[in-house]
Amino acid sequence: QVTPDSRLLEGLNDPQRAAVTHAGAPLLVVAGAGSGKTRVLTRRIAWLIDERKAHPGSILAITFTNKAAAEMKERVEDLVGKRARIMWVSTFHSACVRILRKEIAGLDIGGGGFKSNFSIYDAADSKRLMTLVLRDLDLDPKRYQPSAVLHWVSDHKNELRDPDDAVKDAKNGFEEAYASAYVNYQRRLREANALDFDDLIMTTVQMFQAFPDIRENYRRRFRHVLVDEYQDTNHAQYSLIHQLCGQSLEEHDEALAGGAERVPPSELMVVGDADQSIYAFRGADIRNILDFEQDFPDARTILLEQNYRSTQTILNAANAVIGNNRGRTPKRLWSDAGDGERIVGFVADDGYDEARFVSEEIDRLVDEHGLRPADVAVFYRTNAQSRAFEEVFIRTGQPYKVVGGVRFYERREVRDALAYLRVLVNTADEVSLRRILNTPKRGIGERAEACVAALADRERVTFWEALVRAEEAPGLATRSLKNIQAFVGIIQELQSMVAADERPDVILESVLERSGYLAELEASDDPQDDTRVENLAELVAVAREFAEDPQPGPSADPAEVEAGTVAVGLGDFLERVALVADADQIPDSPDGDDSGVVTLMTLHTAKGLEFPVVFLTGLEDGVFPHQRSLGDQPELEEERRLAYVGLTRAQQRLHVSRALVRSAWGAPVHNPASRFLDELPVDLVDWRRTASAQTQWGRPDLSSGQGAPLGSPTATGRRNFSSAALRADAAAKAKPAREIPQLDPGDRVLHDSFGMGTVVSVEGAAEKAVASIDFGSEGVKRLLLRYAPVEKL
Ligand code: ATP
Ligand code: MG
Repeated sequence: QVTPDSRLLEGLNDPQRAAVTHAGAPLLVVAGAGSGKTRVLTRRIAWLIDERKAHPGSILAITFTNKAAAEMKERVEDLVGKRARIMWVSTFHSACVRILRKEIAGLDIGGGGFKSNFSIYDAADSKRLMTLVLRDLDLDPKRYQPSAVLHWVSDHKNELRDPDDAVKDAKNGFEEAYASAYVNYQRRLREANALDFDDLIMTTVQMFQAFPDIRENYRRRFRHVLVDEYQDTNHAQYSLIHQLCGQSLEEHDEALAGGAERVPPSELMVVGDADQSIYAFRGADIRNILDFEQDFPDARTILLEQNYRSTQTILNAANAVIGNNRGRTPKRLWSDAGDGERIVGFVADDGYDEARFVSEEIDRLVDEHGLRPADVAVFYRTNAQSRAFEEVFIRTGQPYKVVGGVRFYERREVRDALAYLRVLVNTADEVSLRRILNTPKRGIGERAEACVAALADRERVTFWEALVRAEEAPGLATRSLKNIQAFVGIIQELQSMVAADERPDVILESVLERSGYLAELEASDDPQDDTRVENLAELVAVAREFAEDPQPGPSADPAEVEAGTVAVGLGDFLERVALVADADQIPDSPDGDDSGVVTLMTLHTAKGLEFPVVFLTGLEDGVFPHQRSLGDQPELEEERRLAYVGLTRAQQRLHVSRALVRSAWGAPVHNPASRFLDELPVDLVDWRRTASAQTQWGRPDLSSGQGAPLGSPTATGRRNFSSAALRADAAAKAKPAREIPQLDPGDRVLHDSFGMGTVVSVEGAAEKAVASIDFGSEGVKRLLLRYAPVEKL
């Protein structure tokens, strides 16, 4: 019975209340962006605990990122108190790690032989391993690229197809090669006692299928399962939910030990929006949401139609764009927040001009409208686009935070340090072990490594055991043997710290010290190595924070959390680190003040978030929608859903921008306006542009009276040239006698192959002038201006 005055139902509309209080049959909440799906899910958890007296430990809630999980948990705690702490709110991956750590030892799944301290291989580890596999198989690296093979393997895992299936289904020589790579890759993972990201889900599902009594234990435990962002589940994740909540599992039930009764399915609620499905490339299947009622026959569906996030203008824009996708269920999404501001459109000369516009606009919003930089998010399609924004923000002194991008945990030195730690916990982890064997350089060359590998093969022992027994390796030079023994000694010494339960930060510091890693960096005079030392200091700080703040990690044992004795061992630390997702790096310093920090991120990481002010940038065909989607209807529709996600993050103000010229791989490219811009209703957008943009801009229909229309006299009187115009002019004339450009520090230039750059310094004059120019990721180049193909912008 609904308690209408429960505080848990405050601030909810009728369909939202119905979803929160619903009991029994599986429930699907489908609704457009910002209609309160996540809010409903959170409230429902509180409702289950408070009103329906569900034990918090019987709740499993799945979110898309660890950060979203932490926020949801916090919110539920605010509503019903500390006892909520022991519920499982986590990503699919974290939940599966937790289950597997408990169950996997001794089970015959995934080839068997896994121990509960298995390593988790991320994308970079997987790639290294696949590279080794392809080399072993003698496959031509040009035809069989590790990343392509891995993608193929990942697709298989997301579809729950194991190596045997792949071998059976191979239709041609090419697929046979892929399948044998898959077979060998899995074998080596198993030998390394490691699982990759996709394995975490697939192995859990395989375990539930092969051991129904284990599955029944989890069914008995999790009486309530809730899933946010359901539109982005793939087949493996879907199967996992089905194992826990489905009714028709007859095919597995014969195997139930001693003919035990099947536990009735748990209560399931999933929330999602088919228009926001943006992970098809990772196997996400929109049909999971469309077929929900078929898969769960007595399911109930609730629609939410009121949006509480955005102004009507923003919603109209988003609805108009997504309306161009075919075969979708039209939705009526409305808001009573009023029309609000018109959308600001901006046409920039190039990527820097676009960044300058964003920067100036942020200043204006702060000065004139009392907004804080933290209210602002800048979105772009691909990580590389952040560079122009970063450069401009650094110059203007605007603090910013890039979510994703070159991630801290992907930096070489951080990976090296973590590889040491992983070896200490799991010596079977061959990828990590080989990574650190000669890092820092300690005179163990490739030949020595090959000798040890041969010994491991011959004796059928792990690479580590072969290192320990290196004196048996034929052909190993005495010098190498000594060096290997010294290395083994260091590792064993460090292992004794792990055995003594030393804190992760203490162990890490010893690793950096004893391995000689830090000493090597400190002795170097490469300025990059200073940064590396700083990053390692940061990693030690992360470990220390982890050791001192007994906050439950994504897969901490709830019993320990309750008892206040959360494990803080090295293994726990590594697990926390391994599961950090892109979107988990959104700033939220509890002590520091983040109000001055602008957030930059890709559209994919923006899912589920909201910001008062949004800049959606790089709206050019070939950038967004992405180049590879242009000739492909399904991919184009996925890009459009991504646009819908981006547009609907905005609460009050939305800006859309494009650049006339963008440098791609160092060469300037002139992209037409994004088709998504054409899909915005003309009357919703207020277009602006810099003077120079007029020459190239072919969108008079959208200018809505702002600025001079194309072809008007002012349009030809351009004040400064866009680089595209310059290049076009240069091509038209018969190569004019080249003038040596007059450059000063700070000037922007365009180089034929390095792209955009900033002049750092100039020496000499006239014919002899040499400029140092910073081309960002291309590095700083010293160029003789007489010959260098640079143009001043
Ligand atoms: P998305 O599809 O982007 O994930 P969502 O459907 O999960 O969006 P929420 O993030 O839950 O939507 O809600 C959007 C915003 O609207 C939040 O700020 C939320 O607090 C607010 N909100 C939701 N329902 C109500 C309501 N009934 N009254 C007032 N505010 C609400
Ligand atoms: Mg949401």
